[in-house]
Amino acid sequence: MDRRSFLSLAVVCSTTLALGSNEEFIPSSVSMKKITPTVSNLLDKLNAVQNHVGYVKFNIISFDEMLKIAAECNKPLTPYEIGYIETIFYGDPRRYGFFGERTVPRLTAVTPEKDLIYIKKTGHFLLKGAATEKYATIKSLIGNDVILTSGVRAPVKQLHLFLKKMASEGGNLRLASTSIAPPGFTFHSVGDFDIGKVGYGYGNFSEKFQETDVFKKLYNGGYITIRYTNGNPFGVRYEPWHIKVTGGNETA
Ligand SMILES: [Zn+2]
Repeated sequence: MDRRSFLSLAVVCSTTLALGSNEEFIPSSVSMKKITPTVSNLLDKLNAVQNHVGYVKFNIISFDEMLKIAAECNKPLTPYEIGYIETIFYGDPRRYGFFGERTVPRLTAVTPEKDLIYIKKTGHFLLKGAATEKYATIKSLIGNDVILTSGVRAPVKQLHLFLKKMASEGGNLRLASTSIAPPGFTFHSVGDFDIGKVGYGYGNFSEKFQETDVFKKLYNGGYITIRYTNGNPFGVRYEPWHIKVTGGNETA
């Protein structure tokens, strides 16, 4: 069976399975008590792929590359698991309270490496153009006190983060999507990035980041725009560290 036939079969399966398996994918605010075997198995397989390709490369591998590597690692994804991923990717996240817009139309989208720049010592990439220019401005203003904490995240990377968050929130999609956009809906896939103050640790991912000199200088000087402002209409928590680079609805 060629890849296209396999995928269309997977879509058919997923449609059938999704209709009868809402215990796997909670559509509203109902919370699951524990994660399902599907989520657990997918995390195991994605972890294996990440270990195989390394943390840096895992940020940008495509869905097709992931399937290939998982198979090579003796952890092939089942049609059901592929269908489950498609249900998350192509489903409407508004049903669990996430109102951000779609940023990536296809799960199999590929980000060409020629469009990316690796930012030394960070483990992350930025898209050439507006993102790298914005980051260069930030570095020129702040110097060594600022670091890129997350850059380009292709759908597979975002899926991995989302599933991990789902697991840590007991399967509750509403809670998961408050802090991690579902795959297909993150602006990290199209240019946005996160910054932090060197040595500030977890504070870089909390509201405390807005109290840093790094944030104050950049924000008060009008050098950065925050994607998810306080009280934004997208169902996402306030993220003062997440720099808006391109596109999307204005939030303020
Ligand atoms: Zn971010």
